[in-house]
Amino acid sequence: MTPARVSIGPVVQIALDVPLDQCFDFLAPGATAQDIGQLAVVPFGKRKTTGVILGVANTSTLDPAQLKPVDRVMRDVPAFAPRDLALMRFLAGYYQHPLGQVLMSCLPPALRNERAPVAVAALVTRHVALSPAGEAFDAASLPTRAIAQRRVLQALQVRPETRAALVVSIPGAAQALKALTQKGLVKMDVVAPTIPDPLDAASTLSPALIPAQSTAVNRIRENLDRFRTFLLFGITGSGKSEVYLQSVAACLARGRQALILVPEVHLTPQLAARFRIRFPGVHMAVLHSHAASRERLKDWLAAQAGHARIVLGTRLAVTTPMPELGLIIVDEEHDTSFKQQEGLRYSARDAAVYRGSLAACPVVLGSATPSLESWRNAQPDGESDGRYELLTLPERAVPGAKLPAVRVINSAHEPQNEGLGGTLIAALKQRLARREQSLVFINRRGFAPALVCAQCAWMPECGHCSARMVFHRGQSPNRPDHPGRLHCHHCGETRPVPTHCGDCGSVELAPLGRGTQRVEETLAGLFPAARVARLDRDAARAKGVATRIFAEAAAGDVDILVGTQMLSKGHDFPNLTLVGVLNADDAMFSADFRAPERLFAQLVQVAGRAGRAGLPGEVLIQTRFPTHPLYAAVCAQDYPGFAKLQDDERRLAGLPPHAALALLRVEGRKPGEAMKAAKAAATLARALTEARGKVHIHDALPAALAKKGGWERAQVLVQSPSRTALHRLLAPWRAVLAAELPRQVRWALDVDPMEV
Ligand code: ADP
Ligand code: ZN
Ligand code: ZN
Repeated sequence: MTPARVSIGPVVQIALDVPLDQCFDFLAPGATAQDIGQLAVVPFGKRKTTGVILGVANTSTLDPAQLKPVDRVMRDVPAFAPRDLALMRFLAGYYQHPLGQVLMSCLPPALRNERAPVAVAALVTRHVALSPAGEAFDAASLPTRAIAQRRVLQALQVRPETRAALVVSIPGAAQALKALTQKGLVKMDVVAPTIPDPLDAASTLSPALIPAQSTAVNRIRENLDRFRTFLLFGITGSGKSEVYLQSVAACLARGRQALILVPEVHLTPQLAARFRIRFPGVHMAVLHSHAASRERLKDWLAAQAGHARIVLGTRLAVTTPMPELGLIIVDEEHDTSFKQQEGLRYSARDAAVYRGSLAACPVVLGSATPSLESWRNAQPDGESDGRYELLTLPERAVPGAKLPAVRVINSAHEPQNEGLGGTLIAALKQRLARREQSLVFINRRGFAPALVCAQCAWMPECGHCSARMVFHRGQSPNRPDHPGRLHCHHCGETRPVPTHCGDCGSVELAPLGRGTQRVEETLAGLFPAARVARLDRDAARAKGVATRIFAEAAAGDVDILVGTQMLSKGHDFPNLTLVGVLNADDAMFSADFRAPERLFAQLVQVAGRAGRAGLPGEVLIQTRFPTHPLYAAVCAQDYPGFAKLQDDERRLAGLPPHAALALLRVEGRKPGEAMKAAKAAATLARALTEARGKVHIHDALPAALAKKGGWERAQVLVQSPSRTALHRLLAPWRAVLAAELPRQVRWALDVDPMEV
């Protein structure tokens, strides 16, 4: 028997931060449709939890006797607007993640709990004043029981007040203010800072655009009133930032807000700095996960209230509420950090494009090495129909600046000094003599990727992961003789360096291979007078170190920079003329189909650091595969040619961008458990697809890293030429997995996975 739908007063449907795809009903006397999008605190089991109101009704399918009342609706915390909710619904559906968890994970941490109103009140000063109607209104005409409303009106007749002052001094003022606002008698406003005309400031500082930049800016400006996606393909140093700056100026001049997404704000402060300098009077919010909780909340509220006209941030900023959003820019759109690898596994780039369609505004994706997906969408052929508009900046913007000359050096043909060949050493020597800077790029941190026994080739491994332990020297310069430690780069475990082999007992243990620390040490030995600085994740762990090293390098206080890809992003060192690349070949052995795309991007980006300001740049890549087509493309700096080769290969293999993928990731503690569950999951998927066709379910496989942090890992890849067909499988598959897989295994669906 279905429960009768009797009218029982307002019932709110709330999405909670729980792994379930459903809303929960609660009684909420006084709730109206106005409350949709508001946060509310509700009793849930034995605890209280926070959720978002998604609907208000007068009935419930539940037995009214079972319904519990909400604890409170947090009307002091700004609500999600309908357009924000639409974006969250898209993320939940597309990435197969419960809506309640999507909503809560998109809030700044300070808003995710019961204390949210306190956090907000501490930051926002809302001023309340009588409206013209309120000034003409006689408080005595209110019903006698509306005591609070009368007292509020009387107080405001004396002078405008802050909301906090009224709430503290008049009992019931919060409700009264709401009623008075609805009657149009009072105005509640957050005091907005004055916004100077952004174009005044911009026009005095911006350089005259070169023709390709002008074309790009004009196309974006002409489309500010509609949804359109542009792929801004500009070689390194072609002045993409200038295109962003002038497009943003046009957006601000129309009274709209601009959203700029960047890979890592704390590592690439330069773009943020350029926006600050260009738009000095404009309120800019900078949102990223390294920001202090209070700052993040403040910036988020400023964006939501429309005060922050520019929002610049990492992937998490893509959901920032912006009521007047008029332009979205994704810088370095190919960067893998735009894809979140846990929880809600969304791509901020793809979410940005969807958001542009909701906001009816243009989206600009910028890169010197676009992702194959974006590149394909921008091809004007029958297959993609030019879904994105391609804007090209084919030359460097600074007059006289040329792309560096890139050469590959066969490392098998020259003697190596600790991994550095004679050609590279000579080139470094030359730069030191000319007082120019060099950068040595090696994408491995630590001293050596492994320790090895000279007698039996034993190598220490992490007990929790299927990986070797990486040998790190002590970080402290005061203790150069420190024996160092072994680190697992997957689970973070560290342990002392063993004194003897774990297999044969020999004491002859030696570091094998090279990491940044070892290269730094070698360079310091070869060039004792040179100032060598290392930047990798270890060095950058201490707060402020990365900023300091970048500042020193920019000031010319560093001769040789050694580091990982951290050095390859967005920095402009005018005096840097040489880039050396070590160990690039490692990526050639990866099973991941995107490995070549990533290596190409990395090499072009790091090569792009050389010769940016008129001095000719040189790039030397040491490799054992000098004739590999990928290196030929890097030498020619021919992204379109490389992209064409990759695109054709992917088409033949039925891989993205010519197919859609989803990956089920399964983890289990007990031996064999993950694999068993993955096999069962594949069988369940096949049963579901038989009727649907078009989707290929691969066999279950161990993950590339078969064990991590004590969890065995397995995966099932599903692939389809049709995204729609793939998505039709995902929701029912997820439902049967939730019902069928043993509870002790952890699993998650990764839609459009970056690593397979
Ligand atoms: P990208 O982001 O494409 O790598 P940038 O925007 O950093 O390139 O620009 C590279 C350099 O060119 C910067 O030093 C910038 O100031 C300069 N630049 C950009 N546009 C112009 C222009 N129109 N005239 C002169 N210099 C420019
Ligand atoms: Zn041994
Ligand atoms: Zn480990």
